[in-house]
Amino acid sequence: MSIPQQPGPTPVTSPGGSQPASGPRDVLGAAAQPPGVGAFDEHHPPSAELVADCVHCGFCLPTCPTYVLWGEEMDSPRGRIYLMKQGLEGEPLADSMVTHFDRCLGCMSCVTACPSGVQYDRLIEATRQQVERRHRRGPRDRALRAAIFALFPYRRRLRLLRGPLRAYQATGLPRLVRRSGLLRRLAPTLATVESLAPRLGRAARPPQRVAAVGTRRAVVGMLTGCVQGAFFPEVNAATARVLAAEGCEVVILPDRQGCCGALSVHNGREEEARRFARRMLDTFAAAGIDYFVVNAAGCGSTLKEYGDLLRDDPRYAALAADFAGKVRDLSEVLVELGPVATRHPLPVTVAYHDACHLAHAQGVRAQPRRLLRDIPGLELREIADPEICCGSAGIWNILHPGPAAELGDRKARTVLATGAGLLVTANPGCLMQVAASVTRAGGDIALAHTAQVLDVSIRGRGVEELLHQRTPS
Ligand code: SF4
Ligand code: SF4
Repeated sequence: MSIPQQPGPTPVTSPGGSQPASGPRDVLGAAAQPPGVGAFDEHHPPSAELVADCVHCGFCLPTCPTYVLWGEEMDSPRGRIYLMKQGLEGEPLADSMVTHFDRCLGCMSCVTACPSGVQYDRLIEATRQQVERRHRRGPRDRALRAAIFALFPYRRRLRLLRGPLRAYQATGLPRLVRRSGLLRRLAPTLATVESLAPRLGRAARPPQRVAAVGTRRAVVGMLTGCVQGAFFPEVNAATARVLAAEGCEVVILPDRQGCCGALSVHNGREEEARRFARRMLDTFAAAGIDYFVVNAAGCGSTLKEYGDLLRDDPRYAALAADFAGKVRDLSEVLVELGPVATRHPLPVTVAYHDACHLAHAQGVRAQPRRLLRDIPGLELREIADPEICCGSAGIWNILHPGPAAELGDRKARTVLATGAGLLVTANPGCLMQVAASVTRAGGDIALAHTAQVLDVSIRGRGVEELLHQRTPS
């Protein structure tokens, strides 16, 4: 891995000059906080105790994608923690401070890397909530964020896009648009969204429940998700089939469940996130489930933190903590239960990509690899620099299309270097980001979610079923 500057053990000294003179700047612009006001208010500011846990060793720096890109101290975990400390000591929430917080992908690679156990995840989450409440962004940034949050957490609205998008994809226009580069020059954000859109097929409506095959071993709720539900319904269908084949009765309730709140949590929209969380709890509280299964990494990490999200809510706090204890990634629950369904051979070489919110935020790395290795004939290959984010990071690739494309290009190079025929991951955002990046690199690789690989193996279908889902041309 090449980084522009080696991390040193020197403590951060000052955020002065933290805005790189010729480095990347936030194109969205922002307005400053009124002078004389401290950065954080009293409602859950970043914890001074957690900030003090950082001993400035710099071990996290080579794993931080923004530090890898720019070599700028204030765009590293250590620098951002220093800025939080400054804010706690009375520094106002200046534009430059917000810019460095905004540039954090929230990939939590630094949490895994930190030998002192610094809980950067909790720190940045609290900081983002403060930023959203106390900082007025520039008009373009506000408009873009408003559009994103009026659309992405609402599956029905996303589904309305499917028809026009399928019609557009059926023409030769996508290839023309990408090759001409015109859209990228005129409207880079729109070009990014256009390049990320997966190829859409027909979508069947998920059932309310799926019965267990054979002896019932567990009753599980299943998240359908917003982007997953609208753009990757086949992943949800595969997830339900795999769970049923492994003896789970699957409770889906697709019309009642909404967004889990992950996008809102990761972007500091605390109240909105709580609203979504309460609705999710209302939907599944009386469903009698043993586990709540998630097949999207970013959603899983948020659902596991419902207890923390609703800790101030006397009506929901205990329910949220109990529910959070039942949340499992699909790979976790399958390993916990152990296999009963036969795996049929799949002669394919697979590169497994760790989604950050699965590997770093949830610590789930071994289970998906074990499930894949247990399939006869499947050869698993590791991708170099797995700790570095692909640049997707929820909506980060839409808010920061330039650096996200750079991270995507790095990831595409390491993915293609494996020589694998199939890229497998467990997050819709990663699938879209890596697919777009591989296409930009002129490569071609089939893509699948872990659930789809297991499903094809369990059903004894040919490997061709997996290989038809290609990167967009
Ligand atoms: S969460 Fe990721 S981008 Fe943010 S500071 Fe940590 S490693 Fe860097
Ligand atoms: S966050 Fe952890 S790894 Fe990074 S500088 Fe602080 S103590 Fe060291």
